[in-house]
Amino acid sequence: MIVFDLDGTLLDNRPRVAKIFRELAEHWQTTNPTEAASLATAAAEDIVYGVEENLDRFNVKDVALRTFAAGFWKDRFFVDSYMQYDRPTPGALDFVKACYSAGATLVYLTGRDLPNMALGTFASLRDVGFPIGVVGTSLVTKPAFEIPDAAFKNDVAPALVRHGKIIAAFDNEPANNNLFVQHHEAALSIFLDTHHAPNPPALDSRVIVIEDFRW
Ligand SMILES: [Mg+2]
Repeated sequence: MIVFDLDGTLLDNRPRVAKIFRELAEHWQTTNPTEAASLATAAAEDIVYGVEENLDRFNVKDVALRTFAAGFWKDRFFVDSYMQYDRPTPGALDFVKACYSAGATLVYLTGRDLPNMALGTFASLRDVGFPIGVVGTSLVTKPAFEIPDAAFKNDVAPALVRHGKIIAAFDNEPANNNLFVQHHEAALSIFLDTHHAPNPPALDSRVIVIEDFRW
């Protein structure tokens, strides 16, 4: 069994963020044309980690506008209908399909939550072409939005053996890589060096680092 995180591991969610900013540009077209003109150019490559950092990049400076923009982003980023904009990270699709073809059981373990994001995530994985909804695949989500991702993954890590013997777990958050190697010493814990939350813990020396899934 192989465990895959989604955001920043198998899926690049920057197109989702860029799409939301372009929608905000439309919303502000007449009321805030300067900010709208900047946001209208948003492309996936422009997006960095953190909504505040992104608003800096697009020159949204007014405090009230920033607060509104953060709410606009949050109301869309964490809901089913926006999952369709995610794209596979380089090599991810081929790698996951190869693992499945070789007989691995796949568990997609994500900090996305069951009430608001699971159905959109399932559809997104299906539409992009990842094995899902077939024998030997599972999508595991957080029971509630408010639970911190690392706390959730730490809680469920022991129970993952119900799916089979874990041979590897891939994640782009050092905190998650570290907890995996602690719970499942015999498995490989692999860090995807894409983007991650600020101020991460030091990576456990047993964790393997890769740039992407291309081989
Ligand atoms: Mg992630």
